[in-house]
Amino acid sequence: MNGMRIGAHVRNSDNPLEEAEALDVDLVQLFVTDPQKWKKPVVGEGLERIRDSAVDVVVHSSYVINVASLNNRIRIPSRKSVTEQAAVAAEVGALGLVVHGGHVRDGEDPDEGIANWRKLFERQAESGGFAVPIWIENTAGGDFAMARHFDAIAKLWDAVGEFGAGFCLDTCHAWAGGEDLVGVVERIKAITGRIDLVHLNNSRDDFDSARDRHANLEEGTIEPEVLVEVGRASGAPVMLETPAEGIAADVAYLRSL
Ligand SMILES: [Zn+2]
Repeated sequence: MNGMRIGAHVRNSDNPLEEAEALDVDLVQLFVTDPQKWKKPVVGEGLERIRDSAVDVVVHSSYVINVASLNNRIRIPSRKSVTEQAAVAAEVGALGLVVHGGHVRDGEDPDEGIANWRKLFERQAESGGFAVPIWIENTAGGDFAMARHFDAIAKLWDAVGEFGAGFCLDTCHAWAGGEDLVGVVERIKAITGRIDLVHLNNSRDDFDSARDRHANLEEGTIEPEVLVEVGRASGAPVMLETPAEGIAADVAYLRSL
C-alpha cells in the first residue's frame, strides 16, 4: 500500500534484522527482555545490527508490567522496568516503547490506577523524562482496565496527556474490547490527539468478547477491508502482531493494495 509503513513483531530478538529482511518490512517490534519475567534488559549483538540498519525499531515492554496496579509489589518493579526498557529502547534507536494500559483488580477504584499512571510520568519528568516516547496501548479485556473502553482512555488522557504520552491503537483489542472500528481513528484522535502506531491484527473472537487472541489479516472476525482502512486513516506505521505462520502473507496482502 502506497505510503503505509509496514512492520512486524519479531519473536526472536537475536536476529531481528535478518527477520525484517526475510519479511520485507520497514520496521520491527521486539522485546528487549523475557516478557514474562522481571529481568533487566541488555543490548545484544542482534540489536546492535538492527540499530545500525535502515530498519526502524519499536520496543514492546514486558507483559508483567502494570503501572496502574495498586499492589506495590507489581507497581514498583513496573515503574523501574518501564524506565530501564525505555533506556534500552533509546540505545537501539527505537521510535517508542509500547506499554499496555494495565488494570486494577475487581472492586478497586480505577481512578487510583489512573493516578498511578500520572505518577509514573510525574516522577520521570523530574529526571528529564523517558529516554524514548511512551506509547500507551489499548487492551481487550477486563472491567477495571485503564485503556479498554474509550471513555476510560479519555480519563487516562486527562491525567497523562500533558506529559506527551503517545498512543498505540490495537485493532484486535479495540474490536474484542467492544469499540467499533468504523470511524475509530477519528474517535480516538479526538481523545488522545494522536496515534503513533497501529497494531494491525485481526481477532479470532467476536466483537466485545473481551478475548485477546490475534488472527492473520484475512482469517479473523473483522473484515480485512475495515482493518486496512484503520491503518490508512491513522497515518501511522502499522505493526503486525499476527500468528507467525501467516505473517508473510499479511505483509504481502498489505503490499498488494
Ligand atoms: Zn498489540
